[in-house]
Amino acid sequence: MTSSNELFERARKLMPGGVNSPVRAFGSVGGTPRFMVDAHGAYLTDADGIRYVDLVCSWGPALLGHAHPGVLAAVHAAVDHGLSFGASTPDEGRLAELVMERVPGVERIRMVSTGTEATMTAVRLARGFTGRDLIVKFAGCYHGHLDSLLAAAGSGLATMAMPGSAGVTAATTAETLVLPYNDTAAVEAAFAKYGDRIAAVITEAAPANMGVVTPEEGFNAFLSRTTAANGALLILDEVLTGFRTGWAGYWGLTGAQEGWTPDLFTFGKVIGGGLPTAALGGRAEVMDYLAPIGPVYQAGTLSGNPVAMAAGVATLTLATPEVYAFIDRRSLELSAAVSAALDAEGVDHSIQRAGNLFSVAFGTSAAGVHNYAQAQAQEAFRYRPFFHSMLESGVYLPPSVFEAWFLSAAHDDEAMAKIHAALPAAARAAAAAQP
Ligand code: PLP
Repeated sequence: MTSSNELFERARKLMPGGVNSPVRAFGSVGGTPRFMVDAHGAYLTDADGIRYVDLVCSWGPALLGHAHPGVLAAVHAAVDHGLSFGASTPDEGRLAELVMERVPGVERIRMVSTGTEATMTAVRLARGFTGRDLIVKFAGCYHGHLDSLLAAAGSGLATMAMPGSAGVTAATTAETLVLPYNDTAAVEAAFAKYGDRIAAVITEAAPANMGVVTPEEGFNAFLSRTTAANGALLILDEVLTGFRTGWAGYWGLTGAQEGWTPDLFTFGKVIGGGLPTAALGGRAEVMDYLAPIGPVYQAGTLSGNPVAMAAGVATLTLATPEVYAFIDRRSLELSAAVSAALDAEGVDHSIQRAGNLFSVAFGTSAAGVHNYAQAQAQEAFRYRPFFHSMLESGVYLPPSVFEAWFLSAAHDDEAMAKIHAALPAAARAAAAAQP
């Protein structure tokens, strides 16, 4: 019996499903989750001492690679001064300025501890600012586990084939309009019917929680125009894409060129460099509705935590344009290699891409995946043997077909060679898969 087996058996008696976040349980791919004891560079090491090239990167934060010496030095230096002050600290302002330098639409920022808190606060703020009740979200977009946005929320729910969550009241669900992604007519119809009640549209800057889905050209710009024309706000959720898909996130690849800016952004993952920090930011007029100067309440014991701020400041300082150019190149190289391996075995698929994020969808080459219905209709059963073959070869992929693959600045030639070597067998396993 492996150490991971023993640890999982024990964990199942201690925690629901043996985990503290559902996708870690390997529910959709089966088998025993690996318990990790070390993360350095592009590699994870499990409790049995097996090393894996990591294509999860902590679900995004490890942009520079795990345990980057510059980030660790900043964290060590911060720790030496204490772990939490319960008061304001200089690094909060430094991190705020680093974000604003990249994303000028962030005129004010509020640090929180998780992406869920960021979107939850953004939704409350949008309601407080507009005095309206309804929120529009898109099927397949995940914005964290706040009640009002757990309808058709992709990712973990899709992995478990759950439509939504128990414990969310009908009254809460009734205040969320769920529309098909990339569907401008559906958005127009919703505004035609409920225009004066819609507080905000929230959207992932590029969806990456139903697998990756590319926003059709102009879709986010259309959302920006439509919300503005109807007195509603646009909340661009960059928790996953922010400071990962580029210097200024996915907005930097799109809005910055097209000339639109959302009213509110949400950030997480990379902004905390691996420690629990997230943020919301945006137009000063809207953000100043937050307490203590505005009527919308929000607070947090560990918000702006000094150790997390130090990790965030170091990460954004070290994430130079060269880092993004490197990850962009690696992403193109890897997705081409995956595609070639699957083609060689005759496995129908599409590479789903948004900037340097990508995922593989099976049985979808004819049309690709543009919305949640198409994501769910794919041949997801091919991923399970593909995943396990890669794992056996020492490559740790996201344990769900509905997640993006993450690369880092530490994915050097050696790590890439290990992935390349693993692909042919995994493609054969996908080809042989039965529903
Ligand atoms: N928004 C998006 C787009 C996400 O991908 C996630 C998490 O994956 C969240 C919000 C929630 O963030 P957290 O898990 O930190 O609560």
